[in-house]
Amino acid sequence: AKAAGRGRVEVYDDELRHALAAQAAVEEGLRHALVADELVLHYQPVTDLDTGRVRSVEALVRWEKPGEGLVPPGRFIPVAESSDLICDLGRWALRTSLAQLRAFDAAGGDCAGLRVAVNVSGRHLRSPRLVDDVRDALAATGTSPERLTLEITETVMVEDRAAWSRLGELRAIGVRIAIDDFGTGYTSFGQLARVPVDVLKIDKSFVDSDDPRTVELVRLVVGAARSFGLGVVAEGVEQAEQVHALRATGCDTVQGFYFSRPVPAARLEDAVRGCQEV
Ligand code: C2E
Ligand code: CA
Ligand code: CA
Ligand code: CA
Repeated sequence: AKAAGRGRVEVYDDELRHALAAQAAVEEGLRHALVADELVLHYQPVTDLDTGRVRSVEALVRWEKPGEGLVPPGRFIPVAESSDLICDLGRWALRTSLAQLRAFDAAGGDCAGLRVAVNVSGRHLRSPRLVDDVRDALAATGTSPERLTLEITETVMVEDRAAWSRLGELRAIGVRIAIDDFGTGYTSFGQLARVPVDVLKIDKSFVDSDDPRTVELVRLVVGAARSFGLGVVAEGVEQAEQVHALRATGCDTVQGFYFSRPVPAARLEDAVRGCQEV
């Protein structure tokens, strides 16, 4: 029995070694990707249903890996999050997206004047450098802070006083804060009144549900958000019926494949026009 036990330990050991080696390989590849310019941002329009206009976009990273095509963030963000690499990636995303806004402004088309939302990982939020990173990116690109929203997932934000105070500093600069994947964490209605945020992004799982109680919950959240002066964006909207249902709850800012997939900067102008015709 003892021998079998040891055998099992060796198997686990082997699997662990493999997993660690795979992780180290992704990490090394990603480190190289950052300097070799293999990362790109795609942008997904956020549509204001009242005006039918797109005023902001969400920046989403992709890895153009030579020989492998476009690698989605789900395949490397979790690895990046296990080290400070995620902060390097965060700095890159801030700089790149704000520089892109400048380029859009200069081009003077339908993308001029857009705002951008950038995803910030929990690790970066907990790092004392975040505030300076944001400041530096704004200064380097000459962007007014009101045009930048930082998206932070709800699970990261819950009851973390240090994180809350950092968010307070960022808001004092004039940057807006959004709670991403709202509804998947445990923010209570009581906390909603106190968290230092400007926007709630209602998770796709709520948009997908047609259970009457879930719809009622969305209506309540939209109402509470309004009372507290928060904006609300519904994510992952894929169908016209969902647009109608969301409208009925009072939610009038939406994002999803129904309007546009995330697209490279060069195709954003067309995507924005497409959204405004829906
Ligand atoms: P997220 O921030 O919740 O982003 C929304 C995800 O839903 C994106 O996936 C987007 O492409 C996808 N999506 C948008 N509309 C629809 C829809 O109608 N239907 C469906 N099925 N999906 C939709 P993506 O681009 O693969 O990103 C996945 C996650 O990776 C993001 O979730 C975010 O947590 C993370 N991520 C992406 N870019 C960055 C980044 O620059 N920094 C950090 N820290 N995380 C990032
Ligand atoms: Ca937004
Ligand atoms: Ca997001
Ligand atoms: Ca989300």
